[in-house]
Amino acid sequence: VKILGLPGEMRAAADKARLEGLRIGLVPTMGFLHEGHLSLVRKARTLSDFLVVSVFVNPVQFGPGEDLDSYPVDAQRDEELCERQGVDIIFSPGRDRMYAENHSVCVDEEELSSGLCGAHRPGHFRGVLTVVAKLFNIVQPHVAVFGQKDAQQVRVVQRMVRDLDMSVEIVVVPTVREPDGVAMSSRNAYLSGEERRRARRVYEALCLAEKLCRDGNRDTALIKGEMTGLLAEGSPPIEIEYVETVDYETLKPVDRVERPTLVAVAARIGRARLIDNIVLGG
Ligand code: AMP
Repeated sequence: VKILGLPGEMRAAADKARLEGLRIGLVPTMGFLHEGHLSLVRKARTLSDFLVVSVFVNPVQFGPGEDLDSYPVDAQRDEELCERQGVDIIFSPGRDRMYAENHSVCVDEEELSSGLCGAHRPGHFRGVLTVVAKLFNIVQPHVAVFGQKDAQQVRVVQRMVRDLDMSVEIVVVPTVREPDGVAMSSRNAYLSGEERRRARRVYEALCLAEKLCRDGNRDTALIKGEMTGLLAEGSPPIEIEYVETVDYETLKPVDRVERPTLVAVAARIGRARLIDNIVLGG
């Protein structure tokens, strides 16, 4: 695997591959790679001849007081993992290489990004879309792979591609979980042993929603009530940021599960802000 740190170098390498007729795949990440990322990489490997994994902790998608400066990093391990998966290029630009000092153009999505994480992290999706657009422009991939774990991000990126006529295919990979159900996340590194055990409850709450729905309960107020009850059990209780049931297409809240419905949770456990979701009625 080759490591490139400059957007210009990355662009040149991708241009060359494209001229050779290779199909280019991109997996955007913030590094500290885990099995969730690797399942995206494996999927992308099957869909492309020239595979780029970007590793960039994008400062503009973090709000004040968030974990930008403590976000976990292990460049050597990321390199080994990418090497093993047959990744061609790791693109890991320095912060000052990605953004001009006076950069002043951003991508804003004004509908799908207003609720869920968007409501709790102002400017987050603007930062995500801006960096994803920049990565798409630098690499110009044929296909880019994202994880269902960040369901709202997927929807917002799909909308950007549609509305700005970007010529990249977006492929989505299911959430990869630890054996006990906890969704893999770089931020799980923040959890102590006891907090990690408590994190299971987030997945249990999603399973409870699925069971209630399977048993014929379609009323989302009931489903959310039961989930909130479960999350609040135990001490210290999990600090819930939101428990939401939204239409999977529009991301607008729904009263009943009639169409594919995204059940999404964001919670704080210790220092970690964890998100997870499932889709019901699909
Ligand atoms: P991140 O490094 O957290 O920005 O994630 C980079 C990509 O990996 C995003 O498309 C995420 O949705 C995806 N991802 C992160 N965790 C998981 C997981 N547990 N399962 C599947 N995809 C994941």
